[in-house]
Amino acid sequence: MKFIADSMLGRLAKWLRLLGHDTLYYPDIEDSLLLRIAWEEDRVLLTRDTRLVKVRGLKKLLLLTGNDPFEQLKKVIMSFNLHPFDPGRDRFETCLYSRCSLCNSVLVPASKEQAKDRVPEYVYLTTESFNKCQKCDKFYWEGTHQEKLRKKLMEILYN
Ligand SMILES: [Zn+2]
Repeated sequence: MKFIADSMLGRLAKWLRLLGHDTLYYPDIEDSLLLRIAWEEDRVLLTRDTRLVKVRGLKKLLLLTGNDPFEQLKKVIMSFNLHPFDPGRDRFETCLYSRCSLCNSVLVPASKEQAKDRVPEYVYLTTESFNKCQKCDKFYWEGTHQEKLRKKLMEILYN
């Protein structure tokens, strides 16, 4: 499932990307273009704008009412059955941190050598596997951020 988030949903878009979901987001975009991309690329429009919900012909959309990005994320996960857990094994699917939170590109594995001058020294010294974004060259690695995200997800989904 692919998404496009309206300009009010930047934080939600980032969270969805971190969970591995293809989510387009443009901070400044005309409604007409937003709708056209949703239509042409068969994306679910995530919006806070009640006017957009009334647009004729648009079938895939979800209206989000609250301001809290975690509540929004929960609603998207529940609405489209996107649970990031493997229910049988009590662990996260590998899709977590598979996509760049900045540009939505799929991450590719990077060597420790490639990461050397691109990540903080303590990270380089203590981490063995890295991913990078081919488009904006940002590096990602398993660390405390992921642990926090996992905890937060457990909290919003199961409380
Ligand atoms: Zn990127």
